[in-house]
Amino acid sequence: MTQSDSQPDSLVLSAAAMLPDCRELLFNSAVAVVNGVIQAHGDRADIRMRYSGLPEIHVDNCVLMPGFVNAHCHLELSFLAGRIPGPAHFPDWVLQLIAAYPSAADAPDVFAASAVLGSQECIRFGTTTVGDISRQHAIVRPALRAASPLGVVSFGEVTGLGRSRGQLEARLAAAMDCQSTDQCSIGLSPHAPYSVEGPALKEIADMARRYRLPLAMHLAELQEERDFLRDFSGPLGRNWMLMKRLDLLDDRVPIFADGPIRWAQHYGLFSAGVPVVLAHVNYADDTDLDILAASGAAVAYCPRTRHYFGHDDVAPHPWQDMRKRGINVCLATDSLASNPDLSLLREAQFVRRRFPGIDPQALIEMITTEPATALGLGRQIGRLAPGFAADIIAMPAPESALTSAASFADYLVQEAPSPHQVWIRGRGVSRASI
Ligand SMILES: [Zn+2]
Repeated sequence: MTQSDSQPDSLVLSAAAMLPDCRELLFNSAVAVVNGVIQAHGDRADIRMRYSGLPEIHVDNCVLMPGFVNAHCHLELSFLAGRIPGPAHFPDWVLQLIAAYPSAADAPDVFAASAVLGSQECIRFGTTTVGDISRQHAIVRPALRAASPLGVVSFGEVTGLGRSRGQLEARLAAAMDCQSTDQCSIGLSPHAPYSVEGPALKEIADMARRYRLPLAMHLAELQEERDFLRDFSGPLGRNWMLMKRLDLLDDRVPIFADGPIRWAQHYGLFSAGVPVVLAHVNYADDTDLDILAASGAAVAYCPRTRHYFGHDDVAPHPWQDMRKRGINVCLATDSLASNPDLSLLREAQFVRRRFPGIDPQALIEMITTEPATALGLGRQIGRLAPGFAADIIAMPAPESALTSAASFADYLVQEAPSPHQVWIRGRGVSRASI
């Protein structure tokens, strides 16, 4: 999928209304874009006069708003859509995922096509930037740069546990072996507490600090992480078929008794001075939440993936408590290996149905401004404002939804519509290509 080069990235966009930042619905408005960057928005007649040299595109019956931001996804796993039926028990799901992995010879084509397919799905649902966890980063990054306009923070996934610790340095170097561009910037992802030992986590966090790279990690996703860290027991431990097969555990892997969040704090995940996105955090006690609130780390809450793995049957996600404590909580999709689609609005819709009293505007913030901040891009994307990238979607809306920002947000979360048009860095993405 490519944007048409004939499309200008300097233009005026106007519609029935505009929602620049979730809290305010503006009528008779337009936004002026020059070289893919928003210059101004405001009264349509005024903008047209000030930017009279630019072509105008007017979208009827739509609201212009910032493109959605997905803080946690694995685009390269899109080839697994519908292949692992849920509800799934996590350790079994990992084995199924590995069994479905392509052969080494097929892998480049499969992962490249998979990532591009996932990016198309994101855009079709109005997502314009993704925090993408990538184990196959050497394949996925060039593929996305060549074939997709989607904005990506590509977190190179790194593991380092027990007998594989000697490979950590090379894995880290490979994960960082790529120049950041405006479209695709680089981050690091220590995978999870059962695949990265504490000293390796510290090394990865130190590298992120040195090179100013954002971090992302699966953390407190599973209750079983605590057992693993304490003594390598439980379903993720030494008796897990995968752990037996890999045969990585040795006497030098440090044990830790106080659970994954305190473990991550102990090994410096929260002290690298860079943005940190924690995927899931399904299980956290009061002390954990205090640590997270003080850390500045953001949480990517993946509602439908969490449901797929059965965590909703154990306890509700503490996301509301997190928000009360000032923790940045984003809604995210995780991958098509555990989620039916990559629509952020459907995540919001799912949450709204489970928590009917929730302010829909808060849910829209959790897929725009909050994830933008989580990825370290809070001054570049997630709202329509001067100096921000022109990542803009035109959402269809009936007249009845346009009485206020609250009524429009309510409609979005209720109906989860798809956008009529999408612009990324000011260039329209052709509907035919997504
Ligand atoms: Zn994930």
